[in-house]
Parts: sequence; C-alpha cells; structure tokens
Amino acid sequence: MIDSHCHIDFDDFAADRGEVLQRALAAGVEQLIIPSVHPESWSRVITQAKQCQPFGITAHYAIGLHPWWADQFPVSELPRALNDALSGAVAVGECGLDALRDIPMALQIEVLTCHIMAAIEHRLPLILHCVKAHDILLPLLKAHRPTAGGVVHGFGGSLEIAEQYHRLGFKIGVGGMATRPHASRAHRAFTELPLSALLLETDAPAMPLWDDELGQLEAGNEPANVARVAQAVAALRGCSAAEVAAVCRDNTETLFAKMR
Ligand SMILES: [Zn+2]
Repeated sequence: MIDSHCHIDFDDFAADRGEVLQRALAAGVEQLIIPSVHPESWSRVITQAKQCQPFGITAHYAIGLHPWWADQFPVSELPRALNDALSGAVAVGECGLDALRDIPMALQIEVLTCHIMAAIEHRLPLILHCVKAHDILLPLLKAHRPTAGGVVHGFGGSLEIAEQYHRLGFKIGVGGMATRPHASRAHRAFTELPLSALLLETDAPAMPLWDDELGQLEAGNEPANVARVAQAVAALRGCSAAEVAAVCRDNTETLFAKMR
C-alpha cells in the first residue's frame, strides 16, 4: 500500500517516529509521499524521506508552500525557490486554497498560481489542499490546465465536484473521511467515482479516523491507518480492501511518475 499524503516529518512524530514507521510496514504500507508545507521544511522532508529507508519503507517528497502559511514567505521569491528545490521531488505541493483561514484569498491565489506554473514547467503533478474554495480552484485549473494533473487531497466534497476535478485529470485523495459515519456526501463520491480516480492517504498526523467503539474521532493519526481507509472504501464500494489497495497503489504510481 501507499500512503499518498502524510506529514511524517512533523514534530508530532518526533518522539516515536521509528515505531510509527514499523507499525506502517506491519500494516502493509511500503511507500509514503511526504508533502512539505513551507520552504523551512523542504530540506527536512528530503532528509526524512531518506530516513524511512532503513525501516523498509520507500518515501518520496513534494515541494510546496501550504495555504495556511501563504503569508510566511515572500511571494516574489517563490517561483525561483520552487524551481531550485524541485529536482528530486515527485510533485509540487502541498499547495492550494483554504477559505476558512484568515489569509487574503488574493494572496492564496497568487501563491497557488506560482505552484501551478512550476508544475507545468517541471511536468510534475500537483498536491492540492482545498477547503471551501472549489468554486475558485476549479476555474483556476481550467484556465491553466496543468498537464501532469495532480490530486485534490483529503477530499470531503460532493460527487459533482469530484467529477469536475476528474475530468481535468485530477485524482481524489481519500483519507479518514471514508471512516466517518456522517460524511454521506463525500461517501457518495468515494462510491460512485471509478476506482481509477482514487488515491489513499492519511494526512497524518491530521485528519483522524473515526473510532466506532467510542463513537468519536480518534486523537491522532499515522500512516498505518491507510489500511483502515482502504477497508472503509472497500466497504462503501462492496469490493475487497485488497483490490482497493492494489488499484489505488497503481493510480498513485502512475500519477507520481517519478516514484517508479
Ligand atoms: Zn497535508
């Protein structure tokens, strides 16, 4: 299995990263993609990706400035910084738009556009974060048509929105939302889209899964949980978790071609 989106470099894992990676391997996770969130973390994700190898896990990384920190780096310097850092990356990201954050949308769009241009120039896919801004993101992608596509990660929207991304060559990243009992709108997207449109992810340590016994969200999240996301998607679609895992693995390796 591949966890196509996890932040194993975050300090949340500082105390027990080795155990977390061992549990991931034991759960069948063989590859990870680590998106970066800020230029300060770019060298950290490169180092972290290398440090997964002794645990039997092959990790890849992506280079980007997350919308939550869009005002924490001079946008005029971003194109050059991205250009200089992208050579070993499998994708551009994490980048995107978040309407729930108190950062001017005009700035978020400017920062995202730098990433889209870099993705086109380097022929790399995009790892997109989008919260309550599909009405802005979709026209932006339609206008620029990034040729290598990408993924809208941690998707929680409707089937109709997911289909629009899919038509533009984008995959839908499915995480803990698949385990949440009240997420029927997103569940419809995870069920009705072709399996070829989906990638599995955890977004660990964020996006916790649902604890059925306690009837609440779990406290943390880690890459091993991608196996449970596969099970949840399989239950929704009425197929086996093995099939979901295998097809999503293939989807991930096809999208992030530099993984091969
Ligand atoms: Zn993320």
